[in-house]
Amino acid sequence: MSNHALGRPSSGKRRLKDLLLQSDNRVCADCGAPDPKWASANIGVFICLKCCGVHRSLGTHVSKVLSVTLDEWSDDEIEAMVEVGGNTSANSIYEAFIPEGFSKPGPDSSHEQRSKFIRSKYELQEFLKPSLRILSAPRKGSLQSSISRKIMDNFRSSSSSQKTAGMVEFIGLLKVKVIKGTNLAIRDMLSSDPYVVLTLAQQKVQTTVIGSNLNPIWNEELMLSVPQNFGPVKLQVFDYDTFSADDIMGEAEIDIQPMITSAVAFGDAGMFGNMQIGKWLKSHDNALINDSTVNIVDGKVKQEISLKLQNVESGEIDLELEWMPLEQ
Ligand SMILES: [Zn+2]
Repeated sequence: MSNHALGRPSSGKRRLKDLLLQSDNRVCADCGAPDPKWASANIGVFICLKCCGVHRSLGTHVSKVLSVTLDEWSDDEIEAMVEVGGNTSANSIYEAFIPEGFSKPGPDSSHEQRSKFIRSKYELQEFLKPSLRILSAPRKGSLQSSISRKIMDNFRSSSSSQKTAGMVEFIGLLKVKVIKGTNLAIRDMLSSDPYVVLTLAQQKVQTTVIGSNLNPIWNEELMLSVPQNFGPVKLQVFDYDTFSADDIMGEAEIDIQPMITSAVAFGDAGMFGNMQIGKWLKSHDNALINDSTVNIVDGKVKQEISLKLQNVESGEIDLELEWMPLEQ
């Protein structure tokens, strides 16, 4: 049985630790060495001690290095790490255009090889999506340098005027509020320590772990960028285990097509009063508990969804989606 139930699941340190335990963060983002204990708080990657040395040498305007275990983290720094979502997500940006046949340094690579790669990757941004290479004006008092701010925006909610070239390939942002779980399956002796993982295209985001609770209330907002050719969002519930791999507690698919299609058809939701604009219908081959309507609520496109978890003995999840289109 997990022994972390006494911890405060929503505390910052806890969230950071949960993020570190995510499988892609169990190896260094730069060289693949196991068990990284360091992180670059403005870039959003977990790294090993050797790569950490190189990051430090780049200066804090490029990479702000912190120890996961030893340093004090501010809420903003933790939030930034959580928003990026881990090594896979960060590398999908920073290594998007890595040349074919190029070999990344390994855990035993020389300092020179490591150093050359890390500089190319973060300082010169040689492998970045071309659209992200155009620097935007730095904002005062910002934690990140302008370029990493811009990359962060790729992951972040942005209904403000912060539209950047890097977002062109995305059609919008999907905010998913994971509200609660009901009657979830038991995976430990008497209870479970559930958390929810959402996957869309290359992105994976997750809630915090709630200790020993089969009816957890998260009320936690997760953000996904929606690409041109999007498929369903995959939702999975896991039981967090300290000493073994996390057990699955059911899954479901969220069809976001009805919401996006109706939102696109209506255009600027701010022009309309509160009204229903679409519907995702319950059927034998989806996980819906009842029909789910798409509504304009105070100028925002929203959809409440109740899902029956599949491939598991019991469990339901309540969500609220919000669609935020990006102006082209
Ligand atoms: Zn490394």
